[in-house]
Amino acid sequence: MAQQVPVDEDAVAGVVIPEEATHEVAADLAYRRLAIVNVAFVGGRLTGAGNWVLVDAGLRGSAGIICNAATTRFGDEGPPAAILLTHGHFDHVGALHSLAERWNVPIYAHSLELPYLSGQASYPPADPTVGGGIMAAMASLYPRGPIDVSRWLRPLPADGSVPALDGWRWLHTPGHSPGHVSFWRESDRTLLAGDAFVTTAQESAYAVMTQAPELHGPPMYYTPDWEAARESVRRLAALEPELVVTGHGPAMQGPAMRDALHRLADGFDEIAVPKHGHYVPPRVQVDAPRRAAQSSDLA
Ligand SMILES: [Zn+2]
Ligand SMILES: [Zn+2]
Repeated sequence: MAQQVPVDEDAVAGVVIPEEATHEVAADLAYRRLAIVNVAFVGGRLTGAGNWVLVDAGLRGSAGIICNAATTRFGDEGPPAAILLTHGHFDHVGALHSLAERWNVPIYAHSLELPYLSGQASYPPADPTVGGGIMAAMASLYPRGPIDVSRWLRPLPADGSVPALDGWRWLHTPGHSPGHVSFWRESDRTLLAGDAFVTTAQESAYAVMTQAPELHGPPMYYTPDWEAARESVRRLAALEPELVVTGHGPAMQGPAMRDALHRLADGFDEIAVPKHGHYVPPRVQVDAPRRAAQSSDLA
């Protein structure tokens, strides 16, 4: 599969902290890759219980791994101040129930995402026809909820502030899911983008394994609203981030990343939107019946 917007290896950010198996990208920010998806830890090392937050909650069965990494990083088995969610897809909430039971801390998500986290709604079915990779082909098998963590669940504050994280704002970046959010720290231009865009071709098992750096639109098989997804990527590119951590793929930094992000934003329809699929924009589908009619005329 061709890369969407290739990025030089030099743009990959972070140093590996072996005892945590994390990549540290700033003094108070690290992420851990759990097979196909990242979780992020925000807070200074050895800062102790209640002084950090977890962003997203990985795959089912990974609660122990997340806890161990957190205990090592923060020097305390105690809980974070909160769990923040970029969105509620299964690979971002897999360990959420276990962690919430263990830690008993609030879980914050956008109000539009709450129905998928409180047992009320399931996401629309994934589209296995897009992206051309095995991860996409398997997408119809992925769990799509609903899960129910309503005991701990709260909406993100309407004023854009982020609970327990001074200096951060949340930004509504829908498209990949209705209540998708990204987290932004202006002071050092750090962006936690979730799946608004990612840095690997998530549809392809090969790319997910090798993690060849690239800027890539949101995972195709799960994105139902491409118009909103494009506007979200454009909004994030306009922030001119210095450092990005996404839901899938390596963290990236600097001008090469920014340049690639702008190329992705500017050419989004050609680069990131599948040519056809269940959720492709109307402009493509308008043409489809005409082509079908023509080919049946010929037949
Ligand atoms: Zn997702
Ligand atoms: Zn994801």
